[in-house]
Amino acid sequence: MKNIAVIGAGTMGNGIAHVFAQSGFKVNLIDISQDSLDRGMSTIGKNLDRMVSKGVIEEDVKNSTLGNITTFTDLKNGVQNADLVVEAATENLKIKLQIFKDLDEICAANTILASNTSSISITQIAAATQRPYKVIGMHFMNPVPIMKLVEIIRGYSTSNEVTQTIMELSRQLGKTPTEVNDYPGFVANRILMPMINEAIETLYNQVAGVKEIDTVMKLGMAHPMGPLQLADFIGLDICLSILNVMYDGFKNPKYAPCPLLVNMVMAGKLGVKSGEGFYDYSESRKAEKVASQFS
Ligand code: NAD
Repeated sequence: MKNIAVIGAGTMGNGIAHVFAQSGFKVNLIDISQDSLDRGMSTIGKNLDRMVSKGVIEEDVKNSTLGNITTFTDLKNGVQNADLVVEAATENLKIKLQIFKDLDEICAANTILASNTSSISITQIAAATQRPYKVIGMHFMNPVPIMKLVEIIRGYSTSNEVTQTIMELSRQLGKTPTEVNDYPGFVANRILMPMINEAIETLYNQVAGVKEIDTVMKLGMAHPMGPLQLADFIGLDICLSILNVMYDGFKNPKYAPCPLLVNMVMAGKLGVKSGEGFYDYSESRKAEKVASQFS
């Protein structure tokens, strides 16, 4: 594998492009929005600068990483010659099904198609193509350059060969791939989201305040951040949508989203990205202060 196409230059897409490019792959980063591409490239540049200033990488690695990335707004031009496409576009079933249908028509028969979806069924995405055995989940964690895990999700038809290729490729990125099967929430979110939902329920039931709940989990369970703050970082809309996928998929009330989470999303309080969630991020300095604890 040499040529990688990454679709979506948002939070996850720019991180995925960064790690492939830093490992020497040629990356085509594709987004329908030129603004997103510009912001994505600026984020990659800033993250590389931080790594240079901390002595993690040399200046020439920064330059070669940036030199390995080319940006595109046109899908067809961007995925030409790709050995692997990693889709990290908006978490929306309709958008993903259309992208995979298009990719199947445009890409060479041997191109592997991966999705970074947090919750949508890989089997359903694969069924939009004529090559379901070459479709796989490659679920990177945020922030991608730092987090070691890649959850590798086998759809119902994903072949052994494709799974092994993607496991090996993830190791080449310095990540630890972990293979799981395709059921709602996979493993990471099936365990994480009920914990976050329970933390919100605890707040809703007025058992304790935001800071108290997060302090208990941080200091008592050695979690690097509390569940409410983590929810703010993930995005409350994303948390709600993942819980709904599990609730619908398992038909089990234990995954029902807390009414407080539903209300906050309806009110537009989505966490860091909207400036307010369980914490106030309205002054950019405040958000930076919180973010710096994890970089
Ligand atoms: P984001 O909103 O930051 O970025 C999505 C990008 O996709 C935007 O730049 C948008 O312009 C682009 N886009 C939308 N439709 C497109 C299309 N048809 N073609 C090309 N680009 C298109 O979203 P994100 O947080 O980076 O999430 C991306 C994916 O990664 C989602 O599937 C999400 O579930 C998953 N994910 C997110 C996280 C997280 O913590 N944010 C973690 C793991 C996985």
